[in-house]
Amino acid sequence: MNKYLTPNFSFAPILPQRASGSRVWDNYGKEYIDLAGGIAVNALGHCNPELVKVLVEQANKLWHISNLYTTEPAQELAGKLVNNSFANKVFFANSGAEANEAALKLARKHARDHFGEAKHEIVACTNSFHGRTLFTVSVGGQPKYSQDFAPLPLGIRHVAFNDSKSLEGAINENTCAFIVEPIQGESGVLPATAEYLHKARELCDKFDAALIFDEVQTGIGRTGKLFAHEHYDVTPDILSSAKALGCGIPIGAMLCTDKFAESFSLGSHGSTFGGNPLACAVGSRAFDLISLPETLNNVINQGNILQSKLADLGQESGVFSEVRGLGLLIGCVLSEKYQGRAGELVKIALTEGLMVLQAGANVLRLAPSLLLNDDDLNEGMLRLQKAIRTFVNS
Ligand SMILES: *Cc1c(COP(=O)(O)O)cnc(C)c1O
Repeated sequence: MNKYLTPNFSFAPILPQRASGSRVWDNYGKEYIDLAGGIAVNALGHCNPELVKVLVEQANKLWHISNLYTTEPAQELAGKLVNNSFANKVFFANSGAEANEAALKLARKHARDHFGEAKHEIVACTNSFHGRTLFTVSVGGQPKYSQDFAPLPLGIRHVAFNDSKSLEGAINENTCAFIVEPIQGESGVLPATAEYLHKARELCDKFDAALIFDEVQTGIGRTGKLFAHEHYDVTPDILSSAKALGCGIPIGAMLCTDKFAESFSLGSHGSTFGGNPLACAVGSRAFDLISLPETLNNVINQGNILQSKLADLGQESGVFSEVRGLGLLIGCVLSEKYQGRAGELVKIALTEGLMVLQAGANVLRLAPSLLLNDDDLNEGMLRLQKAIRTFVNS
């Protein structure tokens, strides 16, 4: 099926051709319920008519003009992000990795500007995921993604996630930033404890380090609030967003307070495509639709229903030992007997007409459209039930 692309992906044996809402059809016309959401990206479903409309309107006006100019869509989206968050300023990029790259570079430069070059150390969590650029794989705590690309950037230290004691041992006067996902996504949908994030805030304040929340996966409505950190009542200094921000049009954003923003002085960072009018126009409309109370309520309601249906499925089949997550970011932990087999379950589900994800080898992950309706939810669970029957007998 793949003749021309580098072999770093393992493509599923189907060819998706068109999609609408939470349904996808392949080139044979077979239908799939999509509870993967393009890995937490298609937050308003596929080909959302309102987003198609703004995309086409913008396509007829202005596609790209470079960062020698700003545009109405970029100013509009940045304004919405600022007016609805802790942040005062926004830097636009094109992906989550690039948003994190900007966040990490900004933290380094801010510390150097104010405290000198010794204050450059970045503290991050083991098993975290922050993207695939060399800096972000080095900061992400998964050696399998970084070791083959050595030599790696220096000045990075890893601590166990949710372990306040080791965080206390790691953050000191040489720390410029601590970066953390409020819910570790790729490595198993593991929520941070409130105690941990509060401790992180306290230590970053004490040592003048930036607290960076990577909300690339958890942000923009995914958990039933605009950003996951709102559930915890802890605010960062810098935040990265991408995935759902463009609902499928590539865009990333780094949000920060004025105190940090000033270190991105003239010429210190940049991006050719960042702030692209097409992406920002779609992002701006998507932001309006996602912030509607009915959308966020749907995330909470359908999230609760999905979690309880998944827990029931896990109970009756013995396949899941735990169902966890927040809103519509859900992880089903495989029980002892099925350890290491999440990928297999994902493949079987696809043959049953269901798109789901894994998060590591032991967790089945769901990140569907925030507009997920009852029909798609129920049909999806029926298909998962069938897949689980095949899975336990295989
Ligand atoms: C997906 C993800 C990234 C990387 O985003 P890309 O757009 O693939 O570069 C970074 N951090 C988290 C938490 C993610 O889930």
